[in-house]
Amino acid sequence: MARYIGPVCRLCRREGMKLFLKGEKCLSSKCPVEKRNFAPGQHGKDRRAKIVGYGLQLREKQKTRRIYGVLEQQFRNYFERAARKPGVTGDLLLSQLETRLDNVIYRMGLATSRPQARQVVRHGHIAVNGRKVNIPSFQVKPGATITVREGSREVPAIVHAREVSSHQSIPAWLEFSPEQLSGRVLSLPKREDISLPVQEQMIVELYSK
Ligand code: SF4
Repeated sequence: MARYIGPVCRLCRREGMKLFLKGEKCLSSKCPVEKRNFAPGQHGKDRRAKIVGYGLQLREKQKTRRIYGVLEQQFRNYFERAARKPGVTGDLLLSQLETRLDNVIYRMGLATSRPQARQVVRHGHIAVNGRKVNIPSFQVKPGATITVREGSREVPAIVHAREVSSHQSIPAWLEFSPEQLSGRVLSLPKREDISLPVQEQMIVELYSK
């Protein structure tokens, strides 16, 4: 599956907020949003007009897509799947994004950012229910066990992520054992379990036009 390979800090500056795409750098004074919090490009500083209506809906969609590292068509597929299910479409959309395997790895503290979690999965370090899975978009289901594979326990990226994330709290819908490097999905995440600065209703309105 294709992915965005351009400069990621630019995406944060475009959205005017930290999207936490670079691990530790995001928490340091080197973060470009701390230093230059205006849109990138020649006229970035001039773009100060208040965004309303369609522009606001578009920004919410772009921000969400970029946080999870999902390209346009794939994001639309998530939306369409959510819209077909009974329930609140915005909540179902976020629930699907949260239960992507790369996001679960990030939430468990096995990677310092979602892009790094994607790489950890891609490199075959993760098993779901005992079987290797190297697809970052794999949807994990309630009851699934996610483990760092035996030969991957000393992979520097994972060891480092554990050191950095040892204080990180695990969401209520997940459980994680740092000793076993293994965790379980307890339930599907509800909206209140997902602490994201996203107005998902605007995305629903955008796609419902
Ligand atoms: Fe975004 Fe992190 Fe880059 Fe800051 S350091 S702009 S939060 S990706």
